[in-house]
Amino acid sequence: MNSRIDLRGAAWESLDSRGLRDTLPRAELDVEAALDVVRPICERVHHAGVTALLDLGERFDKVRPSSLRVPVEILQSALETLDPRVRAALEESIRRARLVHVDQRRTDTTTNVAPGGTVTERWVPVNRVGLYVPGGLAVYPSSVVMNVVPAQVAGVPSLAVASPPQAHNTGVFTGYPHPTILAACTLLGVDEVYSVGGAQAVAMFAYGAADETGAVVCEPASLVTGPGNVYVAAAKRLLKGLIGIDAEAGPTEIAILADDSADPELIAADLISQAEHDELAASVLVTDSEALADRVDEALKRRVPTTKHSDRVSIALSGRQSGTVLVDGLDEGLQVVDAYGAEHLAIQTRDAAGVAARVTNAGAIFVGDYAPVSLGDYAAGSNHVLPTGGCACHSSGLSVQSFLRGIHVVDYSRAALQEVADTVVTLANAEDLPAHGEAVTARFAPPSPADVS
Ligand code: NAD
Repeated sequence: MNSRIDLRGAAWESLDSRGLRDTLPRAELDVEAALDVVRPICERVHHAGVTALLDLGERFDKVRPSSLRVPVEILQSALETLDPRVRAALEESIRRARLVHVDQRRTDTTTNVAPGGTVTERWVPVNRVGLYVPGGLAVYPSSVVMNVVPAQVAGVPSLAVASPPQAHNTGVFTGYPHPTILAACTLLGVDEVYSVGGAQAVAMFAYGAADETGAVVCEPASLVTGPGNVYVAAAKRLLKGLIGIDAEAGPTEIAILADDSADPELIAADLISQAEHDELAASVLVTDSEALADRVDEALKRRVPTTKHSDRVSIALSGRQSGTVLVDGLDEGLQVVDAYGAEHLAIQTRDAAGVAARVTNAGAIFVGDYAPVSLGDYAAGSNHVLPTGGCACHSSGLSVQSFLRGIHVVDYSRAALQEVADTVVTLANAEDLPAHGEAVTARFAPPSPADVS
């Protein structure tokens, strides 16, 4: 890796927490900068619906979608022609994801606040969600699993998937998303799939889309989830509010906290594995061992030229978002990884489980030599849609909870309200909102003469 940030000794002493965050590697093209690119795209979709979506597909994906919505017979055909080994692997990934996500289900709770006064928290799934499955540089059938499984476990009644049309598809799949993505949707029982990628897919879910005759082709959704590149993350940030979003899950990140007991070959393999997603992917090593950092660099020099996507990996590893951070010790290393808030954090130290327990900011933590991030990408059972760009400091990865809303149901009897009436009136008056108090006292006022007559 090209860049080293040395935070040892005096350099560490001079940093406050804000300074530490600003010193760490971050991409040059960030979500904020991409907002200017996606704003006109989203406006076009808002005003020109299906026509805009087909035009944008042709422009960005180099193929005009055959139709916006993928016909059901094409979805069936994708599953029928899927390599049986890929089908078996997808089924195993789905099985493990279901095991974990079923355990995340919420149960309604009722609290007896006072005699005759209860508050129930009722968990209700979002009515309709749009699930984004990336497909620009790589195709991600695994992201179909990671989006659909928690939504289904949550009980979402209406699910739609969008993924970019693929210029390399042939035969019946021409102009549609990658056949493996279509097959994964069919395997999971999802039959509403759209050939739309990037920011325009997020806009389609936010606004819905109609054709030139005004016929609605895609209904708007209440929530959009799923990973994507910087443009997908920027569109989510732009349209948040009009539509709900999960966390911003943009270009992938791996941070590895390692000491001198770590194996440099495994570290190099893990750094490369995430760098192959995207030129903007971030691979960061945090260590108190300069000797280990040197050996990781040597391993990278050997491994990068022979990996399949070596051009993309080299660009990602030499970008501003990647590098090695040298620290004085493990305590400082933990402060660095907490300040960074990585999407994926791997711990390769002595007592890795003990060190992992001290981390507070990360999308997911991978403990020790036998839990590589690739395992989490496909088949750990955990979700791989995780917050990036430091959002792990305030957001979680996708889960069943992402698709639920907790509704408070307040149920008080006359006596229970009467018992607390003074408290409400006092607080209402303290806020100079006396009508709030009157709404309570009106319920106990003696009947007016007009009512009696
Ligand atoms: P993608 O589907 O996210 O993006 C492809 C789309 O980007 C295209 O359809 C196009 O519409 C749009 N686009 C491309 N260039 C553009 C430009 N110059 N201006 C406007 N729009 C443009 O696929 P991808 O590019 O392969 O990216 C997938 C990303 O998802 C990777 O960065 C990967 O790291 C990330 N990812 C993240 C997670 C996570 O949980 N954080 C998980 C899996 C993948």
